[in-house]
Amino acid sequence: MARGISDRRVIDAMLKIPRHIFVQEAFAAQAYSDSPLPIGEKQTISQPYMVALMTELLSLDGSEKVLEIGTGSGYQTAILATLADRVYSAERIRPLALRARKCLDSLKLFNVMLRINDNEGSPIGWEDEAPFDAIIVTAGAPDVPAILTDQLAPGGRLVIPVGSDSEQQLLKITKNDQGELERFASVGCRFVPLIGRQGWQA
Ligand code: SAH
Repeated sequence: MARGISDRRVIDAMLKIPRHIFVQEAFAAQAYSDSPLPIGEKQTISQPYMVALMTELLSLDGSEKVLEIGTGSGYQTAILATLADRVYSAERIRPLALRARKCLDSLKLFNVMLRINDNEGSPIGWEDEAPFDAIIVTAGAPDVPAILTDQLAPGGRLVIPVGSDSEQQLLKITKNDQGELERFASVGCRFVPLIGRQGWQA
């Protein structure tokens, strides 16, 4: 956390949310090391530094309607739920979503709506609930999916890893009041693939 996370609200949320309940029991002892860990189904809980950085890039003030793609363990979801008004989070692997729901409920984070997108070819995102003030994608995409920038409100922010299936660059895309998009490149990173028509093939 000494690596340049300066948003006090983000740091406080990370101190408040216990990470060990989101990891499998076998990895509980490593829950507070700064590394990704397996969560089953060939997926990983993101490294805490990456969670902090991505959250900081969303510039949340507590009023936002946020979309998350890739609930996974639900840990990032819990941080977002602490810092925004409400969180809509989509996951394509049912057992992960069900486990995340239990963890979020145990922390009484009732401002989280989860959706399971496990149909072959189901579009990325949550079009019925758009637009969103902030969108975070915790899986790597080959390019910025237009289906997601379309779900961004004017003034909205999208944070997404973009690159190859083995390494990506974290991008922040902002949409101004005229609907124009601007791109800002942050650090290099490594995420599991975003699956879907505007992502990678399963
Ligand atoms: N933020 C999570 C990261 C989990 S890994 C955590 O820290 O625990 C990324 C997740 O994205 C995986 O669980 C994977 O199943 C999910 N995913 C990949 N493509 C998706 C899509 N199109 N829609 C929803 N979830 C997706």
